[in-house]
Amino acid sequence: MARKLLLTHIDVPGINTFEVYRQKGGYVAVEKVLKTMSPEDVVEEVKKSGLRGRGGAGFPTGMKWSFLAKPEGVPRYLVCNADESEPGTFKDRYLMTHIPHALIEGMIVSSFALGAHTSYIYVRGEMMPQIRILERAIAEAKEKGFLGKNILGSGYDLEIYVQPGGGAYICGEETALLESLEGKRGNPRIKPPFPAIAGLYNCPTVVNNVESIATTVPIINLGGEEYAKIGVERSTGTKLISASGNIVKPGVYEIELGLPVEEFIYSDEYCGGIANGKRMKAVVAGGSSVPILPANLILKTAAGNSRLMTYESLADGGFQTGTMLGSGGFIVFDEDQCVVRNTWNFARFYHHESCGQCSPCREGTGWMEKVLHKIESGHGAMEDIDLLWDVQRKIEGNTICPLGDAAAWPVAAAIRHFRDEFEWHILHPEESQTRNYGLAHY
Ligand code: NAD
Ligand code: SF4
Repeated sequence: MARKLLLTHIDVPGINTFEVYRQKGGYVAVEKVLKTMSPEDVVEEVKKSGLRGRGGAGFPTGMKWSFLAKPEGVPRYLVCNADESEPGTFKDRYLMTHIPHALIEGMIVSSFALGAHTSYIYVRGEMMPQIRILERAIAEAKEKGFLGKNILGSGYDLEIYVQPGGGAYICGEETALLESLEGKRGNPRIKPPFPAIAGLYNCPTVVNNVESIATTVPIINLGGEEYAKIGVERSTGTKLISASGNIVKPGVYEIELGLPVEEFIYSDEYCGGIANGKRMKAVVAGGSSVPILPANLILKTAAGNSRLMTYESLADGGFQTGTMLGSGGFIVFDEDQCVVRNTWNFARFYHHESCGQCSPCREGTGWMEKVLHKIESGHGAMEDIDLLWDVQRKIEGNTICPLGDAAAWPVAAAIRHFRDEFEWHILHPEESQTRNYGLAHY
């Protein structure tokens, strides 16, 4: 049985309440940090743990915290990014729904470490049930003396506010999120300056993902060094994976980093294999923003080694033969699925969600959507594949925020690994027009 740190008590009835969470050892990390540690000690433990940001970028959390500017007399903020919107990613929603106090406890630990006295949880606007759940959890924690003034007699004050998101995918980009939190349109800012220097209301701010913040609790309970022993290489600890697509058991799984991808897909403890006895065709391993990989490359690296669920192993080979762990949105496609259609679907999403500030993204995502649709619907020409390649190349690296790259990478990977499918659509226009899915040549 795999080791669990976040979902250990997920099946305990009433674990969403303060009482049951506390009975199961909840808020012990808060007691430990407030009674026995300094904020610097907490930052040090998180650094030692090797925790990397669980929202998708994988930036070392302790390092991000240590970048936080501390000018005299200026407030600092912790903002939790709960605007989970990456297609294929639903693990933060799961955690907030079932164990909201894990996030609230992590918010207290993290806010204390950063010297923040006002912290925000920015929750995707569509997640109204989760917003209510978190508000109730905050009220319970406050009633029990874990929030508000002079928490547990430590002299430390903290208020946490829940802010419903603006209803756009781009509001999950950290600087767009801060704009939205300030009451403005969620347009990304140019970085640098990073939020750690000039964030919310121009004050030093740390923006962390839900899972990253909740993970500070087991880090404090175990100690950073013990936590770092879990996992492999620079991928320490456990990770929540949202598994979906053509698998027997879709859902949210907590895995120890280092698990072989093959075991994750085929063992009964996790995905349970490909549904309906079909063969696997491809996997998008880290949410819609990461390159799609064909079945052979997701199971083994180009050098023939077993691919592992780690930041390093999934990226092995760069974008030629590798991908990214990203947000852990693991989407499996069986042999009946059409990669061109799926790529068009993602492109439609990014075009719709582009904020429009930079031309390569605003115009390029629209071009990609149109050309993909043209090919998928059987109206394409061979030159369109090169045009598509050219457009995605002109977006990548030329935009203010990562949405541009996120729109370009899936298109590039689809052409790189499944060019024959694009050609099939062009060579079989009539079948392309009548079939939505399914490829005659597979
Ligand atoms: P990023 O690499 O630009 O930044 C990562 C984090 O590190 C940020 O908080 C940034 O402020 C900080 N940082 C980086 N360099 C720094 C420095 N020199 N000084 C101070 N801080 C520094 O990536 P990002 O824009 O935060 O995230 C992009 C990723 O988000 C994508 O790869 C995608 O996987 C993921 N994503 C997730 C979702 C979701 O719903 N979970 C949605 C969209 C995208
Ligand atoms: Fe907006 Fe796209 Fe530019 Fe990001 S890359 S700022 S979403 S136009």
